[in-house]
Amino acid sequence: MTPEVANFSPGRRAALLSLVVGLAMLGGKWAAYLMTGSHAILSDALESIVHIAATGFALLSVILSERPPDPKYPYGYGKITYFSAGFEGGLIALAALAIFYEAVQGLILHEPLKRLGVGFVIILTASVVNLILGLWLIRLGKKTRSLILEADGKHVLADSYTSFGVVLGVALVGMTRIRWLDPLIAILVGVNILRTGYVLVQESIRGLMDRADPQLLQQIVAALQGVRHEGWLDVHQLRAWRAGDRTFVDFHLVVPGDWSVVRLHEAHDRARNILRETLGEPTDIIIHFDPEQARPPSKPPGSPWSLAEAVRVPKRDDSKHTDVGVQTDSRKSSLPSANL
Ligand SMILES: [Zn+2]
Ligand SMILES: [Zn+2]
Repeated sequence: MTPEVANFSPGRRAALLSLVVGLAMLGGKWAAYLMTGSHAILSDALESIVHIAATGFALLSVILSERPPDPKYPYGYGKITYFSAGFEGGLIALAALAIFYEAVQGLILHEPLKRLGVGFVIILTASVVNLILGLWLIRLGKKTRSLILEADGKHVLADSYTSFGVVLGVALVGMTRIRWLDPLIAILVGVNILRTGYVLVQESIRGLMDRADPQLLQQIVAALQGVRHEGWLDVHQLRAWRAGDRTFVDFHLVVPGDWSVVRLHEAHDRARNILRETLGEPTDIIIHFDPEQARPPSKPPGSPWSLAEAVRVPKRDDSKHTDVGVQTDSRKSSLPSANL
């Protein structure tokens, strides 16, 4: 065993476990299909093939996103998560198409269904295992702030519900002996799987396009408000984006015009530390400091910040809005010259 394998992080171990369980699911569900000839079970088994690809990609994403930023990828490897989600969503849509094709054939051909009891037990077991695994992954993902594990957990949980649906359907077919119910349930499962794929693609686009996340921004405003120094007069132009478990935040902070570089640097560290505490260790911030004149005169000093104020972008023709920028760790970088 290489040291790297021995030092598997909890995230890697969880993603690997998810992959192993996925492989067992594929074996079990496929066997259940071959035994019963049920199209509803086949649709579940087809999803399992896609599932392996998706979970494999999630494991790769966990490994890559744990890499620290390097000169080649200075913002880290976190964006791979969104590729993973988009890839998964696309594959799921393909699986749904295969399910519809199979189901329509089932409606036309009317093949006999066999040994439904065995299939029932296998799929019921699969759905219970997925339910436990899904809930555990979501909890671990939240605890370790891993969006990848959380997304994987949600997917596994959705699959568990799909399997429960198939179990109910198989039971119904077994009791009523109405054969067209089986392909009909397969189509319903396909629609549900298609919906999962749509949500994943949507998440992927939002992540890659850095769509504003009001919940995250609200968290940032509250955290800054909590450690607000009396010299922190106003905040505006707050933005944040995420790449995997890493968060990048930038905003303008209005401070007294006579503050020294040392004080600005202190303010920066204070803000960075509270955001790291709130959002997790790999959080990077950049503050653009504005001198006092940029504060809107209508607002009384010290009044609490709201999200709407924090994200607003002041008009550029505001001649008093002097830009004096300070970057993350100003000791290492040269200060940009003042401009108007
Ligand atoms: Zn799946
Ligand atoms: Zn400003």
